[in-house]
Amino acid sequence: MTQIFKTQDSLKAYISAEKENKKTIGFVPTMGALHKGHLSLIKKAKKKTDIVVVSIFVNPTQFDNKEDLEKYPKTLENDIKLLNKVACDAVYTPTVDDIYSTNITAESFDFDGLEHQMEGKFRKGHFDGVGTIVKKLFEIVRPNIAFFGKKDFQQLQIIKKLVEKEDLNLKIKGCPIFREKDGLAMSSRNVRLSKKHRKEAPFIYKTLKKAKKKFKTHDVEYVQKWVEKKFKKNKLLELEYFTIADEKTLKTITKKDKNIKTRAFIAVYAGDIRLIDNIRF
Ligand code: AMP
Repeated sequence: MTQIFKTQDSLKAYISAEKENKKTIGFVPTMGALHKGHLSLIKKAKKKTDIVVVSIFVNPTQFDNKEDLEKYPKTLENDIKLLNKVACDAVYTPTVDDIYSTNITAESFDFDGLEHQMEGKFRKGHFDGVGTIVKKLFEIVRPNIAFFGKKDFQQLQIIKKLVEKEDLNLKIKGCPIFREKDGLAMSSRNVRLSKKHRKEAPFIYKTLKKAKKKFKTHDVEYVQKWVEKKFKKNKLLELEYFTIADEKTLKTITKKDKNIKTRAFIAVYAGDIRLIDNIRF
């Protein structure tokens, strides 16, 4: 049975006891409404560490959009069923109060510019909120390894930077993007899509795959324009950004360079719902 901890004090006591028994701790932070993408991270954690802890917390300081925060799907009962199914050892489901007490604010971070690209441009303060909650959770859980999905590739790079800058004693493991059969990247927000938007949403990954093919024989500008044109013609999906960037700095590239790893990143509105995805180029 997955043990449920509602307060950091009770979780800390559990972790201390496990560490005393020389167990290694794997940690998967989530915002709940768990799907197979989350479960793939937990399964990976189970292979690499003795005890797996999942957190479920919709962190208010990382949302710049009040409606997105309020409407974020909450399915705790089902989440716990799923955690039991994959034999997750412990889940931490704190209240806002348990995490922030009365001071619900984000710390300011310098992630060497990673925070100013893409999601950072379009979601103001997002990565200060992410840095704040992840740092707090790392202090509570004290994991040996924490697992993050490449679905949020920018977040993954920022967490690695957080660990480097704050000199934290743990490893960060990036895990592959888990997709629906039709290619749509799994996301808790997918359940909020209307029927017609859900049907159209696989267009995002399809376009990324075609763009990757085009990138083999065309330059950056051509692929950029091609993707923008494709979305202009699509009546249901509105492109917020598409950018081809250096995986390390996350800066947009304007020219191909064999010496850097390149990845394409995309954010799209399907009605009111914002979806992100990325692909290695
Ligand atoms: P979230 O609950 O959306 O904050 O996600 C929690 C963790 O699960 C993050 O590290 C995400 O990157 C990861 N994740 C979410 N969706 C997927 C997916 N489709 N494939 C792989 N990892 C994912």
